[in-house]
Amino acid sequence: MPCLCPLFSCQWEGHLEVVVPHLRQMHRVDILHGTDIVFLATDMHLPAPADWLIIHSCFGHHFLLVLRKQERHAGHPQFFATMMLIGTPTQADSFTYRLELNRNHRCLRWEATPRSILECVDSVITNGDCLVIGTSLAQHFSDNGSLAIGIAISAATEICSSEAEM
Ligand SMILES: [Zn+2]
Repeated sequence: MPCLCPLFSCQWEGHLEVVVPHLRQMHRVDILHGTDIVFLATDMHLPAPADWLIIHSCFGHHFLLVLRKQERHAGHPQFFATMMLIGTPTQADSFTYRLELNRNHRCLRWEATPRSILECVDSVITNGDCLVIGTSLAQHFSDNGSLAIGIAISAATEICSSEAEM
């Protein structure tokens, strides 16, 4: 099972079980525990391409938030945020994630089913099937160059999860 490190600058490949140790050891990605967390992405002014990662641990799984600054059109950097389950697409289908930006009486919320890390994060971003915001909107939600992203994971109903196990 090929599995790519989602970082833009890293060509590492490895199995699903060693993705988390790779991210922890090689990229010093932090793990936050709990269903609701806040990830503070700092230095949003860094030139594209740049990646921000956080591992979110809950429901016995690891979820990886990928925030990427990239220029899909030259001279127009945008921010792309998506949640990847470090697991299979079938496992990913049993969860929902929510990303929320909240500042100065403005709120922006994105809800979706996480993607599997086995799907290429590059194609998710190229297809724009993720939270996409321009730099001017990002500035409205950032404070001193830092963007606080509220992240919540919820599991599908018990009936669905027991069906998935069968
Ligand atoms: Zn890597």
